[in-house]
Amino acid sequence: MESIIELKAKMLTLGIAPGTIKNPLPDKYKFETKVVVSDRHFTNKERKILPSELILEHNGKATIVKTIFKETSPLVLHLDGEKVYVDGYEDVKVRLVKRNPADLTSPPFVGHVGVDKLSVVPFVGCFYWLEGVNCRFCGASPNPEWKKHELSIFTKNLYKVWKERKEEFLEMFEKHVQNFLRYWEGPHLHFMVMGNWVENQDAQFEIGLDVLSYFSDIAKKSDSYFIMLPPKSLGLIDKAYETGVKYIQFNIEVWGEEYFKEAVPGKHKYYSFDFYVKALKYAVDVFGEGNVRTNFVLGIQPFSKTKEGMEKLADIGVIPSYTVFHPRPKSAWRDRKPPFWEDVLEFARWHGDLLRSYGYKPYACPLSSRSSLENEAVRGWV
Ligand code: SF4
Repeated sequence: MESIIELKAKMLTLGIAPGTIKNPLPDKYKFETKVVVSDRHFTNKERKILPSELILEHNGKATIVKTIFKETSPLVLHLDGEKVYVDGYEDVKVRLVKRNPADLTSPPFVGHVGVDKLSVVPFVGCFYWLEGVNCRFCGASPNPEWKKHELSIFTKNLYKVWKERKEEFLEMFEKHVQNFLRYWEGPHLHFMVMGNWVENQDAQFEIGLDVLSYFSDIAKKSDSYFIMLPPKSLGLIDKAYETGVKYIQFNIEVWGEEYFKEAVPGKHKYYSFDFYVKALKYAVDVFGEGNVRTNFVLGIQPFSKTKEGMEKLADIGVIPSYTVFHPRPKSAWRDRKPPFWEDVLEFARWHGDLLRSYGYKPYACPLSSRSSLENEAVRGWV
């Protein structure tokens, strides 16, 4: 097994502690708020100089990993300008992710993650947080700063505001998307339109659909994903297909009604586990097998249960992905333990075999998929 894979599995489960950290980061990596430096993933006072993602390279292979800083982790990261390394893994070349200059001016709706993933999120926040039914693993929380944006969960009648002024908002997104593309250096373009909960099942989906339709030229030409909650009116999924987007994705997170109720109370309240599965099946009827995706959070239910769900979904044409659970500081499950890294590796091998057996493509690529080992396993690196 490649040392970058072992290190990635450890970083995703144990987190990483800051060692020698010297200021300042070179300017090309230093973009203040959104991606390189992320409060969500950090607990140290010096967080402003710490990166939220790193590229690990060895033997001509490279992967990206999200950095979860944890003072007590046995893994220690040193950062001295562009010289970055992890104790015990000196054979691994650790690189910072060079930021797209558009990051400096873009609003929170358009963002660059990993090396080559560009996403448009038409509104900031998730109404589940306001109702107290947020997913138990979700570490995000309402940010009062968002009140200055009209497209946020603090806006009254957000859906109505969207419908009345969507042309204006779409033009604003377009300006920022084009700004990112002007400086694009990534080997691919993984283009995502995604959203969280707004008002009701169809409202959030229709807002996303308006955005996706507007950007359909980009969606047709790129590795594109429409990542939403399902609509109540399943016929809206047909409209998503007409935009030419490659994949539609509804994240189910866990397998089984009881786990669903416990882990994702908002989704349980407004849908049900059975409806979620029904929506995925409907999407396969429209998009075809291997063009519908879902995501699980690995480590919040027995691995055997997650595997059961993945097998069943893969069998009906859905590509199951996963992200490794880590207890985020502000989440309801902040005191839960993450899975063991050895178990994650074993699971990753099993999952890689599952995707290969169906000929399913893993999510994005190794330089954009930060929280799982699925790309690496399918390539036989694990
Ligand atoms: S849907 Fe769940 S995970 Fe996503 S933002 Fe809302 S509460 Fe968080």
